[in-house]
Amino acid sequence: MSQSIATVRTVKDLRAQVAKWRQAGEPIALVPTMGALHAGHLSLIAVAKDHAKHVVASIFVNPAQFGPKEDFKRYPRDEAGDVEKLAEAGVELVFIPDTTEIYPAGFATKVSLPSLTEDLCGAARPNHFDGVATVVTKLLLQCAPDVAVFGEKDYQQLLVIKQLVRDLNIPVQIVAGPIVREPDGLALSSRNGYLSPVEWQTAPILYQVLSEAAAALVNGEGCDAASSAGRFKLEGKGFRVDYVAIRDPETLAPLSGPIRRPARVMGAVHLGTTRLIDNVPTAPKNR
Ligand code: AMP
Repeated sequence: MSQSIATVRTVKDLRAQVAKWRQAGEPIALVPTMGALHAGHLSLIAVAKDHAKHVVASIFVNPAQFGPKEDFKRYPRDEAGDVEKLAEAGVELVFIPDTTEIYPAGFATKVSLPSLTEDLCGAARPNHFDGVATVVTKLLLQCAPDVAVFGEKDYQQLLVIKQLVRDLNIPVQIVAGPIVREPDGLALSSRNGYLSPVEWQTAPILYQVLSEAAAALVNGEGCDAASSAGRFKLEGKGFRVDYVAIRDPETLAPLSGPIRRPARVMGAVHLGTTRLIDNVPTAPKNR
């Protein structure tokens, strides 16, 4: 049975709602989303509930993080369905602002972390992470949660958010939730709905290939060989590959040679008109 959920659309109403909990000294967790919710998002709600008495979710398809040729217009939207899912998951409050509430006329600020966002997804999507960093900073200041939960699915984004919270002294704990997958390994994504039935058959190969690279690294293969082999396999299956990369899991620094400490195997591909990203952890064998 779902509990009652309140919807607010303005920062003023959001602050009025959370102020009651704050005054009572009750911890608040925020889960930012762009809606079209699936089990991955709901897993973050469950993580949030483990960390705080009250869970707030936000739904905002942030135009600032889409490029001019990207899918902002066709991005799936289902407010009524989303609110029902959030209520069932135990969210008490959902913030669904209009674009003008977040970016009123005259809005002029940008939060930018060039060193973390120049490559990987940032190389293919210029300005994307500025849009993410700016909106997440705003959401954290608007809601002022004790905890905010983000998925490892968007691994580069997660590190960007951790960094901006550190740099700007935003008093919030960032908690990461693991990637939720289909039984065939495909990471859940609101964009999977774009895939044709044939592409659905191919898409799980991304995870398989990243997992194979992770296993090769465990067995002592070098990073360059593992990432080249991954790219080659994906291209052979019809993916257009943005990158397959082996990175330091804390700094995203490129790694070379056999790994000597934990690493992250990261990939981004296009399948038809759909861009898919995924990543898996790996670590050297205990010596
Ligand atoms: P989005 O609505 O795509 O902006 O995602 C909102 C949050 O859900 C982000 O923190 C994502 O990393 C997270 N997320 C998206 N897909 C998954 C997934 N398959 N498993 C876990 N978290 C996810």
